[in-house]
Amino acid sequence: MGEAERGDSAPRLRVSFWCSNGHETQPSFAGDAEVPETWDCPRCGFPAGKERENPPDPPRTEPYKTHLAYVRERRSDEDGEAILAEALAKLRGEI
Ligand SMILES: [Zn+2]
Repeated sequence: MGEAERGDSAPRLRVSFWCSNGHETQPSFAGDAEVPETWDCPRCGFPAGKERENPPDPPRTEPYKTHLAYVRERRSDEDGEAILAEALAKLRGEI
């Protein structure tokens, strides 16, 4: 056992977090920092927890979409623009 490394006065604490996809991330914290319960996985964005066998549940898989976003996804951009223009016109009372 040698001496602790010198030159880094603030001890860093490395904590492993695992997401439900099995990704491990190891953010490091200052020795006196409060380590959070969960950490966002940098690879998939899921929440990651400190228990490898029991990662936090992934976020719900049904993202909220506005009707317009849904329509725009299914149609060409051109149609989407027309629908948007129509919606705006309705808002303005032009139809
Ligand atoms: Zn992940």
